[in-house]
Amino acid sequence: MDYNYNTSTLITIKENLINEENRYLIGTLYLAPQKNLNNAKYYGVQYDDKALNLAKVNLCKKATNACATSCIYHQGIYKTSDFNKNKIKQARFKRTFKFLLQRDEFFFQLCKEIAALVRKCKRKDYRPIIQLNGTSDILWEKESFTYKEIEYKNIMELFPNIQFFDYTKYDIKKSRKKLPKNYHLLYSRAGKQKGILVDDWEYLSSLLDSNIDVAIIFSKDMKNKILEKREYNNYKVIDGDIYNNRVYDLTQREKTGLIVAIEAMKKTEITKAGFIIQNEEAFNEYLN
Ligand code: SF4
Repeated sequence: MDYNYNTSTLITIKENLINEENRYLIGTLYLAPQKNLNNAKYYGVQYDDKALNLAKVNLCKKATNACATSCIYHQGIYKTSDFNKNKIKQARFKRTFKFLLQRDEFFFQLCKEIAALVRKCKRKDYRPIIQLNGTSDILWEKESFTYKEIEYKNIMELFPNIQFFDYTKYDIKKSRKKLPKNYHLLYSRAGKQKGILVDDWEYLSSLLDSNIDVAIIFSKDMKNKILEKREYNNYKVIDGDIYNNRVYDLTQREKTGLIVAIEAMKKTEITKAGFIIQNEEAFNEYLN
């Protein structure tokens, strides 16, 4: 039996107008994060269970229970719709199956869509930016593929003039230090996993000192608090919600990496593990 994992597009394109000189179109790939592919059957998505052991699939190997619960994957306009009517999640499952089981087709389509985005940007005088881990944490720098009979080490190699960025929970200095020049990563703070703090302030500040930006999720009040002085412990803080173009952040840097403060989306399910800094107590516990 042939399985159909086709979707109308792989990447979702959003306009990002920072100012007249900085006009971007951002293409984002949304997959099924962490172990969520396991739920595909409840959404009516058929897949080849002989080709894939779902128990072994995890697209976010460094995810904590808390980030998996609060992940933006669970948000959006279809959040409360019936499983078999949730078109957004169905598309994310299909794209993920395509990536895992129909790799050649997946990369062929991804390359075509990125090339089309580049052409569109040229016509409209925008700059293209690509975010492949919209809802996943894949090491794209290690995902080799073949396109038109040429082998590429990664997608960045095929598009050397396009900037890519992603958030990651991997230790960038250890696991992801050999990155293509056109791939920018920032660390996404995790909080606690099974009661143990994954990334204390000492660790976060060591990243900032190494010119690695750190994204931190806050409640509205706590985000306002850290943005009051635009600086925290001598590190510059920026509002990460004004635009989601972390490549542009590089132009905002002064001496070190930036703290990128992001507000948790409304109705996000919040746990007690400190992934989202939601009150003074958590602020003092995790950022001191
Ligand atoms: S690592 Fe990121 S994408 Fe993956 S589950 Fe956690 S918050 Fe979601």
